[in-house]
Amino acid sequence: MLRIGLTGGIGSGKSTVSGLLAARGARVVDADRIAREVVEPGTPGLDAVVVAFGPDVLTADGALDRPALAAVVFADPQARARLDAIVHPLVRARAAELVAAAPPDAVVVQDVPLLVETGQAASYDLVLVVEADLETRVQRLLARGLGEADARARIAAQATDEQRRAVADVVLDNSGSVEDLAAQVDRFWAEHVTPAVG
Ligand code: ADP
Repeated sequence: MLRIGLTGGIGSGKSTVSGLLAARGARVVDADRIAREVVEPGTPGLDAVVVAFGPDVLTADGALDRPALAAVVFADPQARARLDAIVHPLVRARAAELVAAAPPDAVVVQDVPLLVETGQAASYDLVLVVEADLETRVQRLLARGLGEADARARIAAQATDEQRRAVADVVLDNSGSVEDLAAQVDRFWAEHVTPAVG
C-alpha cells in the first residue's frame, strides 16, 4: 500500500486533485466527509457534542445545527478545543478503519485539510501539497458561494504556503487551468506512484 497525504489551503484544489487521483485508481479517504459522518444523527459523536454544548446545537429534527455550533466555537477558543477533542479522534479512527480495509496493493489518498496544522506529515509515505495563489483561491471560493470576508478569514486562519511546502514531497501548482493541473497529476503518478507500486 502507498499512503499519500493530500493537503492544501481552502480553495487550493484538494477535492479537484483527489478526483483526478481517484480517476487514476486511487482510493480517496476524505477527512471533511468523515468529519460530517461522525456527527450524524444517532452517532456517539453527536451525543458527545450535545453533552458538551447542550441541545441548542441541534436542529428541530435532531441533526447537528452547524451554524449554531460554528457560532459557539468561533467566539471561544476553549470551546473550539473541546469540539476538536471530540471530533478529531473520531475522524482519525474512522479514517484508519477505511485505510485498513483497502487492499494491500492500494494507492490510498487521504485528503486532510489540516495535515500541516495537526502535525500529521509523518503518517504518510508521500505528502502532496496543492497550491494556488491567494487571489485565485479567493475568487474560486466566491464562485463556490462563500462571502469574501469569510473566505479571506478562513485562509488567514490556516497554515501558510511556506509551512505546507516545508513538509511537502511534491507541490502541485493549481493557479492555472484544470487541464494544467491534470497534467501535473499525471506526472506525479508517473514519477512517484508507479515506481512505488508497480
Ligand atoms: P479545496 O478542496 O482545496 O477547497 P476545490 O478542489 O474544491 O478546493 O476547488 C475550489 C473551487 O475551485 C471548486 O469550486 C473547484 O471546482 C474550483 N477549481 C479548482 N481548480 C480549478 C482550476 N484549475 N480552474 C478553475 N476552477 C478550479
